[in-house]
Amino acid sequence: MLGPRQEFQSALFYEFNLEDHVPDDHLLRSIDRFVDLGDMRSHLRPFYSDIGRPSVDPELMIRMLLIGYIMGIRSERWLCDEVHVNLAYRWFCRLDLGDPVPDQSTFSKNRHGRFRESDLFRQLFENVVARCIKEGVVGGEIFATDASIIEADANRQNSTPKEDWDVSSLDPETVPRAVREYLNVLDDAAFGAASEVKPKFTSHSDPSSQWTGAKKGPAFFAYSDNYLIDTDHAIIVDVEASRSIRQAEVGATRTMIKRTREAFDLYPEVLVADTAYGSAENLNWLVNSEGIMPHIPVIDHSKRIDGIFEKSDFVYNLDRDAYICPIGLPLYPAKKVYRNRKTPIAADNMIRYRASKYDCEECLLKKYCCPKDPSRKILRHIYEGARDLARELSLTDAYVDSMKRRKKVEMLFAHLKRIMKLGRLRLRGPNGAKDEFLLAATAQNLRKLAKLIPQPA
Ligand code: SF4
Repeated sequence: MLGPRQEFQSALFYEFNLEDHVPDDHLLRSIDRFVDLGDMRSHLRPFYSDIGRPSVDPELMIRMLLIGYIMGIRSERWLCDEVHVNLAYRWFCRLDLGDPVPDQSTFSKNRHGRFRESDLFRQLFENVVARCIKEGVVGGEIFATDASIIEADANRQNSTPKEDWDVSSLDPETVPRAVREYLNVLDDAAFGAASEVKPKFTSHSDPSSQWTGAKKGPAFFAYSDNYLIDTDHAIIVDVEASRSIRQAEVGATRTMIKRTREAFDLYPEVLVADTAYGSAENLNWLVNSEGIMPHIPVIDHSKRIDGIFEKSDFVYNLDRDAYICPIGLPLYPAKKVYRNRKTPIAADNMIRYRASKYDCEECLLKKYCCPKDPSRKILRHIYEGARDLARELSLTDAYVDSMKRRKKVEMLFAHLKRIMKLGRLRLRGPNGAKDEFLLAATAQNLRKLAKLIPQPA
Protein backbone atom coordinates (compact mmCIF):
# COMPACT_ATOMS: atom_id res chain seq x y z
CA MET A 1 0.00 0.00 0.00
CA LEU A 2 1.31 3.41 -0.92
CA GLY A 3 1.98 5.40 2.24
CA PRO A 4 0.90 9.02 2.75
CA ARG A 5 3.09 11.83 1.42
CA GLN A 6 5.62 12.96 4.02
CA GLU A 7 4.85 16.59 4.84
CA PHE A 8 7.29 18.76 6.79
CA GLN A 9 5.78 19.69 10.10
CA SER A 10 7.94 21.04 12.89
CA ALA A 11 7.11 19.63 16.27
CA LEU A 12 6.78 21.86 19.28
CA PHE A 13 8.77 19.55 21.52
CA TYR A 14 11.41 16.98 20.76
CA GLU A 15 12.68 14.15 22.81
CA PHE A 16 16.05 13.75 21.26
CA ASN A 17 19.29 12.40 22.64
CA LEU A 18 22.34 12.84 20.41
CA GLU A 19 24.02 9.93 22.15
CA ASP A 20 21.42 7.56 20.67
CA HIS A 21 22.01 8.75 17.13
CA VAL A 22 25.75 8.25 16.82
CA PRO A 23 26.44 4.67 15.69
CA ASP A 24 28.55 2.55 18.03
CA ASP A 25 31.08 1.90 15.28
CA HIS A 26 31.40 5.54 14.19
CA LEU A 27 35.06 6.59 13.84
CA LEU A 28 34.60 9.64 16.08
CA ARG A 29 33.06 7.54 18.83
CA SER A 30 36.12 5.30 18.75
CA ILE A 31 38.48 8.25 18.74
CA ASP A 32 36.67 10.15 21.50
CA ARG A 33 37.95 7.64 24.09
CA PHE A 34 41.49 8.88 23.50
CA VAL A 35 40.90 12.64 23.40
CA ASP A 36 41.77 14.07 26.79
CA LEU A 37 41.65 17.87 26.90
CA GLY A 38 41.41 18.03 30.68
CA ASP A 39 44.47 20.18 31.35
CA MET A 40 44.02 22.38 28.29
CA ARG A 41 42.09 25.10 30.09
CA SER A 42 44.79 25.58 32.72
CA HIS A 43 47.43 25.64 29.96
CA LEU A 44 45.52 28.37 28.10
CA ARG A 45 44.41 30.43 31.08
CA PRO A 46 47.42 32.87 31.03
CA PHE A 47 46.54 33.73 27.42
CA TYR A 48 43.01 34.92 28.22
CA SER A 49 42.10 38.23 29.81
CA ASP A 50 40.44 38.28 33.24
CA ILE A 51 37.87 40.82 32.07
CA GLY A 52 35.58 41.17 29.06
CA ARG A 53 33.09 38.84 27.39
CA PRO A 54 33.55 35.08 27.93
CA SER A 55 35.33 33.49 25.00
CA VAL A 56 34.20 30.60 22.84
CA ASP A 57 35.17 27.38 24.63
CA PRO A 58 38.72 26.52 23.42
CA GLU A 59 37.98 22.80 23.89
CA LEU A 60 35.12 23.14 21.41
CA MET A 61 37.45 24.71 18.86
CA ILE A 62 40.09 22.03 19.35
CA ARG A 63 37.50 19.30 18.93
CA MET A 64 36.26 20.98 15.76
CA LEU A 65 39.79 21.28 14.41
CA LEU A 66 40.38 17.60 15.14
CA ILE A 67 37.24 16.71 13.19
CA GLY A 68 38.55 18.77 10.28
CA TYR A 69 41.84 16.86 10.14
CA ILE A 70 40.39 13.43 10.97
CA MET A 71 37.65 13.66 8.36
CA GLY A 72 39.68 15.54 5.72
CA ILE A 73 37.62 18.76 5.86
CA ARG A 74 40.18 21.34 4.83
CA SER A 75 38.14 24.53 4.82
CA GLU A 76 37.21 26.13 8.15
CA ARG A 77 34.03 27.56 6.67
CA TRP A 78 33.04 24.12 5.41
CA LEU A 79 33.96 22.63 8.79
CA CYS A 80 31.66 25.05 10.63
CA ASP A 81 28.81 24.16 8.24
CA GLU A 82 29.44 20.44 8.69
CA VAL A 83 29.51 20.63 12.48
CA HIS A 84 26.26 22.52 12.27
CA VAL A 85 24.40 19.76 10.42
CA ASN A 86 26.23 16.54 11.34
CA LEU A 87 24.97 14.81 14.49
CA ALA A 88 28.15 12.80 15.06
CA TYR A 89 30.26 15.95 14.77
CA ARG A 90 28.00 17.75 17.25
CA TRP A 91 28.25 14.81 19.63
CA PHE A 92 32.08 14.80 19.39
CA CYS A 93 32.12 18.57 20.05
CA ARG A 94 29.79 18.20 23.06
CA LEU A 95 27.26 20.46 21.33
CA ASP A 96 23.55 19.90 21.79
CA LEU A 97 21.15 20.31 18.88
CA GLY A 98 20.39 23.92 19.62
CA ASP A 99 23.92 25.04 20.57
CA PRO A 100 25.50 27.58 18.21
CA VAL A 101 28.61 26.65 16.27
CA PRO A 102 31.50 29.18 16.34
CA ASP A 103 32.07 30.92 13.04
CA GLN A 104 35.14 30.74 10.89
CA SER A 105 36.61 34.09 11.97
CA THR A 106 36.77 32.92 15.60
CA PHE A 107 38.94 30.04 14.46
CA SER A 108 41.35 32.25 12.57
CA LYS A 109 41.80 34.59 15.49
CA ASN A 110 42.55 31.79 17.94
CA ARG A 111 44.72 29.72 15.64
CA HIS A 112 47.00 32.64 14.87
CA GLY A 113 46.78 34.05 18.37
CA ARG A 114 46.41 32.19 21.65
CA PHE A 115 46.75 28.65 20.35
CA ARG A 116 50.02 29.45 18.66
CA GLU A 117 51.46 31.55 21.48
CA SER A 118 50.67 28.84 24.00
CA ASP A 119 52.11 26.07 21.78
CA LEU A 120 48.81 24.30 22.32
CA PHE A 121 49.01 22.04 19.28
CA ARG A 122 52.35 20.59 20.36
CA GLN A 123 50.97 19.93 23.80
CA LEU A 124 47.95 18.24 22.24
CA PHE A 125 50.17 16.12 19.99
CA GLU A 126 52.42 15.08 22.87
CA ASN A 127 49.41 14.19 25.01
CA VAL A 128 48.24 11.81 22.31
CA VAL A 129 51.73 10.28 21.94
CA ALA A 130 51.85 9.82 25.72
CA ARG A 131 48.50 8.04 25.48
CA CYS A 132 49.86 5.78 22.72
CA ILE A 133 52.80 4.88 24.97
CA LYS A 134 50.44 4.23 27.87
CA GLU A 135 48.30 1.95 25.70
CA GLY A 136 51.43 -0.05 24.84
CA VAL A 137 51.44 0.56 21.09
CA VAL A 138 54.88 2.22 21.00
CA GLY A 139 57.76 -0.28 21.10
CA GLY A 140 60.43 2.44 21.24
CA GLU A 141 63.14 0.29 19.63
CA ILE A 142 62.99 0.74 15.86
CA PHE A 143 62.18 4.22 14.59
CA ALA A 144 61.86 5.33 10.99
CA THR A 145 62.07 8.82 9.55
CA ASP A 146 61.16 10.46 6.29
CA ALA A 147 59.94 13.75 4.88
CA SER A 148 57.15 14.57 2.49
CA ILE A 149 56.84 17.69 0.39
CA ILE A 150 53.58 19.57 0.97
CA GLU A 151 52.67 22.42 -1.33
CA ALA A 152 52.60 25.83 0.35
CA ASP A 153 49.82 28.37 -0.08
CA ALA A 154 51.99 30.42 -2.45
CA ASN A 155 52.00 30.91 -6.20
CA ARG A 156 54.81 31.35 -8.69
CA GLN A 157 53.19 34.52 -10.09
CA ASN A 158 53.66 36.24 -6.72
CA SER A 159 57.41 35.66 -6.36
CA THR A 160 60.82 37.21 -7.03
CA PRO A 161 63.88 35.63 -8.72
CA LYS A 162 66.85 35.21 -6.37
CA GLU A 163 68.92 37.99 -7.95
CA ASP A 164 66.16 40.53 -7.16
CA TRP A 165 65.25 39.31 -3.66
CA ASP A 166 66.44 41.77 -1.02
CA VAL A 167 65.77 40.83 2.60
CA SER A 168 67.03 44.15 3.92
CA SER A 169 64.16 45.97 2.18
CA LEU A 170 61.58 44.18 4.39
CA ASP A 171 60.30 46.20 7.32
CA PRO A 172 59.23 43.83 10.14
CA GLU A 173 56.74 46.43 11.37
CA THR A 174 54.71 46.59 8.18
CA VAL A 175 55.06 43.19 6.47
CA PRO A 176 52.35 40.50 6.76
CA ARG A 177 52.56 37.80 9.46
CA ALA A 178 54.09 35.10 7.21
CA VAL A 179 56.87 37.47 6.10
CA ARG A 180 57.53 38.47 9.70
CA GLU A 181 57.89 34.80 10.59
CA TYR A 182 60.31 34.41 7.67
CA LEU A 183 62.49 37.18 9.11
CA ASN A 184 62.38 35.48 12.51
CA VAL A 185 63.62 32.12 11.20
CA LEU A 186 66.43 33.39 8.96
CA ASP A 187 68.99 31.95 11.42
CA ASP A 188 67.01 28.80 12.14
CA ALA A 189 68.69 25.55 11.03
CA ALA A 190 65.38 24.18 9.74
CA PHE A 191 64.77 27.25 7.56
CA GLY A 192 67.01 30.20 6.62
CA ALA A 193 70.29 28.76 7.89
CA ALA A 194 69.76 25.28 6.44
CA SER A 195 71.70 26.12 3.28
CA GLU A 196 73.85 28.86 1.81
CA VAL A 197 72.27 28.25 -1.56
CA LYS A 198 69.59 30.78 -2.35
CA PRO A 199 66.37 29.39 -3.83
CA LYS A 200 65.67 30.25 -7.45
CA PHE A 201 62.46 32.08 -6.51
CA THR A 202 61.13 33.50 -3.25
CA SER A 203 57.44 33.88 -2.62
CA HIS A 204 56.13 37.28 -1.53
CA SER A 205 53.26 35.82 0.44
CA ASP A 206 55.22 33.01 2.16
CA PRO A 207 58.98 33.57 1.74
CA SER A 208 59.95 30.70 4.09
CA SER A 209 58.52 28.15 1.68
CA GLN A 210 61.02 26.47 -0.63
CA TRP A 211 60.85 26.69 -4.41
CA THR A 212 61.32 23.04 -5.30
CA GLY A 213 61.38 20.88 -8.38
CA ALA A 214 61.96 17.71 -6.34
CA LYS A 215 58.75 16.17 -7.60
CA LYS A 216 58.41 15.32 -11.24
CA GLY A 217 56.53 18.10 -13.02
CA PRO A 218 56.58 21.86 -12.65
CA ALA A 219 58.35 23.34 -9.59
CA PHE A 220 56.30 24.93 -6.81
CA PHE A 221 56.61 26.43 -3.32
CA ALA A 222 56.53 23.88 -0.50
CA TYR A 223 57.38 22.89 3.05
CA SER A 224 58.60 19.49 4.22
CA ASP A 225 56.59 17.52 6.72
CA ASN A 226 59.09 15.41 8.71
CA TYR A 227 57.90 12.36 10.62
CA LEU A 228 59.67 10.22 13.18
CA ILE A 229 57.63 7.06 13.71
CA ASP A 230 57.77 4.00 15.87
CA THR A 231 57.65 1.16 13.37
CA ASP A 232 55.75 -1.36 15.51
CA HIS A 233 52.38 0.23 14.80
CA ALA A 234 53.37 3.30 12.76
CA ILE A 235 52.68 5.73 15.62
CA ILE A 236 54.11 9.18 14.87
CA VAL A 237 56.31 9.99 17.86
CA ASP A 238 57.39 13.39 16.53
CA VAL A 239 56.72 15.77 13.68
CA GLU A 240 58.60 18.82 12.43
CA ALA A 241 58.19 21.38 9.65
CA SER A 242 61.25 22.40 7.62
CA ARG A 243 62.36 23.76 4.28
CA SER A 244 62.18 21.22 1.48
CA ILE A 245 65.91 20.61 1.19
CA ARG A 246 67.91 17.63 2.38
CA GLN A 247 70.02 19.46 4.97
CA ALA A 248 66.93 20.88 6.67
CA GLU A 249 65.19 17.48 6.65
CA VAL A 250 68.20 15.72 8.18
CA GLY A 251 68.43 18.48 10.79
CA ALA A 252 64.71 18.05 11.55
CA THR A 253 65.28 14.34 12.24
CA ARG A 254 68.02 15.16 14.73
CA THR A 255 65.72 17.66 16.45
CA MET A 256 62.96 15.04 16.64
CA ILE A 257 65.23 12.32 18.06
CA LYS A 258 66.48 14.64 20.81
CA ARG A 259 63.00 15.98 21.58
CA THR A 260 61.47 12.50 21.77
CA ARG A 261 64.13 11.48 24.25
CA GLU A 262 63.49 14.53 26.42
CA ALA A 263 59.70 14.35 26.23
CA PHE A 264 59.10 10.60 26.48
CA ASP A 265 62.43 9.05 27.50
CA LEU A 266 62.49 7.05 24.27
CA TYR A 267 65.90 5.75 23.18
CA PRO A 268 65.56 3.93 19.85
CA GLU A 269 68.13 1.25 19.05
CA VAL A 270 67.71 1.55 15.29
CA LEU A 271 66.85 4.38 12.93
CA VAL A 272 65.53 3.42 9.50
CA ALA A 273 65.66 5.94 6.67
CA ASP A 274 66.35 6.31 2.96
CA THR A 275 69.57 7.36 1.24
CA ALA A 276 68.87 11.06 1.82
CA TYR A 277 69.86 10.48 5.45
CA GLY A 278 72.97 8.42 4.59
CA SER A 279 75.64 11.15 4.61
CA ALA A 280 78.82 10.42 6.56
CA GLU A 281 78.12 13.28 9.00
CA ASN A 282 74.64 12.04 9.79
CA LEU A 283 75.71 8.41 10.17
CA ASN A 284 78.52 9.49 12.47
CA TRP A 285 76.10 11.56 14.58
CA LEU A 286 73.76 8.59 14.92
CA VAL A 287 76.45 6.03 15.72
CA ASN A 288 78.94 7.96 17.81
CA SER A 289 76.83 10.67 19.44
CA GLU A 290 73.49 8.92 19.89
CA GLY A 291 74.42 5.23 19.94
CA ILE A 292 71.74 4.45 17.33
CA MET A 293 72.31 1.77 14.69
CA PRO A 294 71.66 3.26 11.23
CA HIS A 295 69.63 1.06 8.91
CA ILE A 296 70.24 3.59 6.19
CA PRO A 297 71.76 3.16 2.72
CA VAL A 298 75.15 4.92 2.61
CA ILE A 299 75.58 7.79 0.16
CA ASP A 300 78.48 6.39 -1.83
CA HIS A 301 79.90 7.89 -5.01
CA SER A 302 82.76 5.39 -5.28
CA LYS A 303 80.92 2.90 -7.49
CA ARG A 304 82.54 2.36 -10.93
CA ILE A 305 80.90 1.16 -14.11
CA ASP A 306 84.01 1.28 -16.31
CA GLY A 307 85.56 -1.99 -15.09
CA ILE A 308 88.18 -0.24 -12.94
CA PHE A 309 88.73 -1.58 -9.40
CA GLU A 310 86.26 -0.05 -6.97
CA LYS A 311 87.02 1.25 -3.51
CA SER A 312 85.44 -1.91 -2.11
CA ASP A 313 88.26 -3.94 -3.77
CA PHE A 314 90.67 -2.25 -1.35
CA VAL A 315 90.66 -3.41 2.29
CA TYR A 316 91.20 -0.89 5.07
CA ASN A 317 93.68 -1.92 7.74
CA LEU A 318 92.99 0.02 10.92
CA ASP A 319 96.29 -0.86 12.65
CA ARG A 320 98.38 0.40 9.77
CA ASP A 321 95.94 3.17 8.78
CA ALA A 322 96.33 2.00 5.20
CA TYR A 323 94.26 0.54 2.39
CA ILE A 324 95.56 -2.74 0.98
CA CYS A 325 95.26 -3.03 -2.77
CA PRO A 326 94.26 -6.24 -4.67
CA ILE A 327 97.89 -7.40 -4.89
CA GLY A 328 98.52 -6.71 -1.20
CA LEU A 329 100.39 -3.41 -1.34
CA PRO A 330 99.56 -0.50 0.98
CA LEU A 331 98.08 2.92 0.19
CA TYR A 332 98.95 5.46 2.90
CA PRO A 333 97.44 8.89 3.64
CA ALA A 334 98.84 11.53 1.32
CA LYS A 335 101.59 13.54 2.97
CA LYS A 336 100.23 16.74 1.46
CA VAL A 337 99.70 19.51 3.98
CA TYR A 338 96.79 21.76 3.04
CA ARG A 339 97.27 25.48 2.98
CA ASN A 340 96.85 27.00 6.46
CA ARG A 341 96.07 23.56 7.91
CA LYS A 342 98.68 21.01 8.96
CA THR A 343 96.46 18.02 8.32
CA PRO A 344 95.93 15.43 5.62
CA ILE A 345 92.21 16.12 5.86
CA ALA A 346 90.95 18.16 2.92
CA ALA A 347 88.17 20.75 3.06
CA ASP A 348 85.65 18.08 2.00
CA ASN A 349 86.56 16.04 5.13
CA MET A 350 88.25 13.42 2.97
CA ILE A 351 91.72 11.89 3.43
CA ARG A 352 93.49 10.87 0.22
CA TYR A 353 95.29 7.50 0.43
CA ARG A 354 97.85 6.94 -2.31
CA ALA A 355 99.77 3.91 -3.54
CA SER A 356 103.48 4.19 -4.29
CA LYS A 357 104.13 5.42 -7.81
CA TYR A 358 106.91 2.86 -8.19
CA ASP A 359 104.63 -0.02 -7.13
CA CYS A 360 101.92 0.95 -9.61
CA GLU A 361 104.32 1.51 -12.51
CA GLU A 362 105.53 -2.08 -12.19
CA CYS A 363 102.12 -3.57 -11.56
CA LEU A 364 100.46 -5.87 -14.13
CA LEU A 365 97.00 -4.81 -12.92
CA LYS A 366 97.60 -1.11 -13.48
CA LYS A 367 95.28 -0.97 -16.50
CA TYR A 368 92.43 -2.18 -14.21
CA CYS A 369 93.38 0.09 -11.36
CA CYS A 370 94.71 3.48 -12.43
CA PRO A 371 95.22 3.45 -16.22
CA LYS A 372 95.39 7.25 -16.54
CA ASP A 373 97.20 8.15 -13.30
CA PRO A 374 100.72 7.41 -12.11
CA SER A 375 99.35 5.74 -8.96
CA ARG A 376 96.03 4.73 -7.42
CA LYS A 377 94.23 7.04 -5.02
CA ILE A 378 91.43 6.11 -2.56
CA LEU A 379 89.33 8.66 -0.66
CA ARG A 380 88.38 7.97 2.94
CA HIS A 381 85.95 10.16 4.83
CA ILE A 382 86.90 11.13 8.37
CA TYR A 383 83.65 9.41 9.44
CA GLU A 384 84.27 6.33 7.33
CA GLY A 385 83.96 4.12 10.44
CA ALA A 386 80.27 5.00 10.75
CA ARG A 387 79.81 4.46 7.01
CA ASP A 388 81.47 1.04 7.26
CA LEU A 389 79.18 0.09 10.14
CA ALA A 390 76.13 1.14 8.10
CA ARG A 391 77.41 -0.95 5.17
CA GLU A 392 77.88 -4.00 7.42
CA LEU A 393 74.40 -3.56 8.89
CA SER A 394 72.94 -3.42 5.40
CA LEU A 395 73.94 -7.07 4.90
CA THR A 396 71.90 -8.34 7.85
CA ASP A 397 68.39 -9.86 7.94
CA ALA A 398 67.34 -7.17 10.43
CA TYR A 399 68.11 -4.56 7.76
CA VAL A 400 65.85 -6.32 5.25
CA ASP A 401 63.07 -6.26 7.87
CA SER A 402 63.76 -2.57 8.55
CA MET A 403 63.39 -1.69 4.87
CA LYS A 404 59.90 -3.23 4.98
CA ARG A 405 59.12 -1.22 8.13
CA ARG A 406 60.24 1.96 6.38
CA LYS A 407 57.25 1.63 4.05
CA LYS A 408 55.03 2.48 7.02
CA VAL A 409 56.18 6.08 7.10
CA GLU A 410 55.58 6.39 3.36
CA MET A 411 52.09 4.98 3.84
CA LEU A 412 51.40 7.58 6.52
CA PHE A 413 52.27 10.33 4.05
CA ALA A 414 50.09 8.74 1.36
CA HIS A 415 47.24 8.61 3.89
CA LEU A 416 47.90 12.21 4.86
CA LYS A 417 47.51 13.39 1.30
CA ARG A 418 44.80 11.08 -0.02
CA ILE A 419 42.47 10.56 2.94
CA MET A 420 43.18 13.65 5.02
CA LYS A 421 43.61 15.75 1.89
CA LEU A 422 46.68 17.61 3.12
CA GLY A 423 48.17 18.04 -0.35
CA ARG A 424 48.38 21.80 0.04
CA LEU A 425 48.68 23.92 3.16
CA ARG A 426 46.00 26.45 4.06
CA LEU A 427 48.07 28.40 6.58
CA ARG A 428 51.14 30.40 5.64
CA GLY A 429 54.53 30.84 7.29
CA PRO A 430 56.68 28.34 9.23
CA ASN A 431 54.23 28.49 12.14
CA GLY A 432 51.28 27.81 9.87
CA ALA A 433 53.07 24.74 8.46
CA LYS A 434 54.04 23.63 11.96
CA ASP A 435 50.46 23.93 13.25
CA GLU A 436 48.99 22.06 10.29
CA PHE A 437 51.54 19.24 10.51
CA LEU A 438 51.06 18.88 14.28
CA LEU A 439 47.28 18.68 13.99
CA ALA A 440 47.45 16.26 11.08
CA ALA A 441 49.89 13.99 12.96
CA THR A 442 47.65 14.13 16.05
CA ALA A 443 44.68 13.13 13.92
CA GLN A 444 46.63 10.26 12.35
CA ASN A 445 47.69 8.95 15.77
CA LEU A 446 44.12 9.16 17.05
CA ARG A 447 42.84 7.25 14.02
CA LYS A 448 45.54 4.64 14.58
CA LEU A 449 44.67 4.28 18.29
CA ALA A 450 41.01 3.83 17.42
CA LYS A 451 41.94 1.12 14.93
CA LEU A 452 44.39 -0.71 17.19
CA ILE A 453 42.25 -0.69 20.32
CA PRO A 454 38.68 -1.66 19.46
CA GLN A 455 35.81 -0.37 21.54
CA PRO A 456 34.78 -2.72 24.31
CA ALA A 457 31.57 -4.51 23.30
S1 SF4 B 1 98.11 -0.48 -9.69
FE1 SF4 B 1 99.05 0.03 -7.77
S2 SF4 B 1 97.35 0.08 -6.30
FE2 SF4 B 1 96.60 -0.92 -8.13
S3 SF4 B 1 96.84 -3.09 -7.72
FE3 SF4 B 1 98.69 -2.40 -8.77
S4 SF4 B 1 100.12 -1.81 -7.16
FE4 SF4 B 1 98.11 -1.98 -6.24
